Amino acid sequence: MKKYAQVIVNIPAAEVDKEYDYLVPPDRENEYKIGHVIQVPFGSRRVIGFIIGFSENTDVSSGKIKQLDKKILKDRVFDKKMLDLFKWMAYNYNSYLSQVIKTALPAGIIQGRVSVKKKKFICLNESEDIVRKKIKEIKNRAPKQARILEIFADNPHKEFTVQELINTADCYRGAVYRLMEKGVLDSCKRIQRRKLNHTKSKKESKVPSLTSDQNKAISSVQKSFNSSEIFLLHGVTGSGKTEVYLQLADRLLKQGQGTIILVPEISLTPIMVRRFYSRFKDKIAVLHSGLSEGERYDEWRRIKRGEAKIVIGARSAVFAPLDNPGLIVIDEEHENSYKQETYPHYHARRVAFVRGKISNFPVLLGSATPSLESFYYTEKNFIHYLSLSKRINERGLPPVDIIDMSAELKKGNTGIFSASLKDSITRTLKKDKQVLLFLNRRGYASFMMCRECGFVIKCRNCDISLTYHSAKNSLCCHYCGHTRRPAQKCPECDSEYIKEFGIGTEKIVQEVKEEFPEAEVDRMDVDTTVYKGAHEDILARMEKGETDILVGTQMIAKGHDYPGIEVVGVISADTMLNIPDFRSAERTFQLMTQVAGRAGRGSTRGQVYIQTYNPDHYSIQAARNHDYEAFYKNEIKLRKELNYPPFCFLVNILVRGTQKEIVKKEIKKLSQKIHKQHHSSIMEIMGPSPATIPKIRGKFRWQIILKFAEKKLRKKILNKLKKEVQIQENKNDVSFVIDVDPQSML
Ligand code: ADP
Ligand code: ZN
Ligand code: ZN
Repeated sequence: MKKYAQVIVNIPAAEVDKEYDYLVPPDRENEYKIGHVIQVPFGSRRVIGFIIGFSENTDVSSGKIKQLDKKILKDRVFDKKMLDLFKWMAYNYNSYLSQVIKTALPAGIIQGRVSVKKKKFICLNESEDIVRKKIKEIKNRAPKQARILEIFADNPHKEFTVQELINTADCYRGAVYRLMEKGVLDSCKRIQRRKLNHTKSKKESKVPSLTSDQNKAISSVQKSFNSSEIFLLHGVTGSGKTEVYLQLADRLLKQGQGTIILVPEISLTPIMVRRFYSRFKDKIAVLHSGLSEGERYDEWRRIKRGEAKIVIGARSAVFAPLDNPGLIVIDEEHENSYKQETYPHYHARRVAFVRGKISNFPVLLGSATPSLESFYYTEKNFIHYLSLSKRINERGLPPVDIIDMSAELKKGNTGIFSASLKDSITRTLKKDKQVLLFLNRRGYASFMMCRECGFVIKCRNCDISLTYHSAKNSLCCHYCGHTRRPAQKCPECDSEYIKEFGIGTEKIVQEVKEEFPEAEVDRMDVDTTVYKGAHEDILARMEKGETDILVGTQMIAKGHDYPGIEVVGVISADTMLNIPDFRSAERTFQLMTQVAGRAGRGSTRGQVYIQTYNPDHYSIQAARNHDYEAFYKNEIKLRKELNYPPFCFLVNILVRGTQKEIVKKEIKKLSQKIHKQHHSSIMEIMGPSPATIPKIRGKFRWQIILKFAEKKLRKKILNKLKKEVQIQENKNDVSFVIDVDPQSML
């Protein structure tokens, strides 16, 4: 009996992070289900809540119990299985359940801010015969009205928008309304889907016959449909992984099941989306942050109603409300963007595993450069290893040249480009082929430094250097947005030799234009892709061959398959290598490999140049040889020696506050407690120490890093620590962030 409902209120605070009992309105039990969003009286106000269960009894006295109020949405937003997933997340990532639920839903939905779009349509209100008679009657008197009726006489069962009628009949709005007043026409409102760009694509896709490697991979996964196995599909770019995803999704669709395909970045989505759309048309739905709230809601609703069964999306699409999911694919599984850097700090890969376990379906990871963790687990047989060892059509991988930039410097070349890269670009342009120049975004923007004393201009709110933007001639903080004019003199020593250093994409474009004035240069980075559809536009120009040289950040490294690209140049491999993070070598290898995979996808093999000051580093050498195993062997040895994942489970506890002394005091207090109470359960306690970026947006940041030998133990201790942290937070002006499995240590 559903006498009482358990409700979680939508308030992210420790004190109210629990289930509240409410009386279900008697005789209306069937109207309420798990996953309904409802309004409830709460103290003196009304708040939004989620029903997460029912019971026959309650501990609340009958005088005090309050009744559920109205439902915010007719449909429920999650089912029992998803609720189990949310509960696991809240527990595992130290979050409030309400916070997890909100993360999983399209923005604006529970506030009632988004809804379906309705459009007015005009239809016939009389029989066809009467209309034909009417046409004759009014033909002379009101020729425009007659013309409108002719449209309907030809299509008596069709509905038109007012605008369509106006256009076709070449009349004024008034003519349509006159007919409605007379009762010949009627209007009605219909839900109209907000159409996304890809649905305009008319491209048809051919279904190729599979290679034996692809067949093997597909049948392995297929054998495990309806079991929660995990697979890793290891294959270089162009080896046919996406085709494997397509065919698996197709097979599931034929048995009425859905597939979720996660992709790391929006820039990649349009390409993937177009490919899936050309095969499955409106059976696909798309979910990513590039959509408007309304568009997201519509896509979500189509999934929920079972209209779309194949979902392509970024991280949060792992929560897509498919009724009967049969597979989650995580493409480029090693990518950082699968980790959410705010609460609930989840990693989509782990969430996918757990969802698979709860609902009994497999997860397929795909990558050319698997994360160290995933590959390690294939060795331990927790993950099944599948591989596509060759590029389709036996196209070889492009040769990679490592260019030692310190040798260039010795030869007197102080420019951005080495001699061989420059020559190669010149030759490529002559052949009318395309060039991709890659620059790592992070840590490589230009900054202002004094050549005499070494002083660097930093943000006054954040302890990081300001980035110089030549187009606006200003310095800008990429964390808080603070901007200022460049300094004329060094604030430290008064020297006039204060200049911008380092290079951003903007600077490269400028140099490229000077070096190759006749080339058509384009740029793709966060600054040039702010407007909607910008990615598509840049890539379309590339596809049509209008662009000769494309300069860009990470965004250009992935997923683009343009046969015109012959040369790829990495301006500097060192920026990523020098980021203070235990994963920096792994990231460098992944990125270099991925960038290299962009060259030679056409008829020629292509050529890759990697410029670096660390030519002998194992990650760069391995990237040169396209040798994942060599990289893995080196890296896993180091991880073992230094005790980093996958040999331990990490937690990063960060404390932030506006007063440095209080921040230090609070983190020390916590650290002492950890040492005293949990020392024996923790493998290693690192810190407290200032975070790599010690100040952001005016807040000081200190951290403690904990290493655990076991996930279970970590969960147990974190739940104890969570309470400590809450007490400390409440008493002081600081906030703690507990990041489970941190992906970035900045
Ligand atoms: P990946 O996802 O590993 O980069 P894709 O699936 O995109 O690889 O395949 C690379 C190219 O080869 C694509 O253009 C794709 O259409 C084509 N392709 C994939 N599988 C086959 C196949 N079995 N036969 C012919 N062409 C294929
Ligand atoms: Zn100075
Ligand atoms: Zn700042």
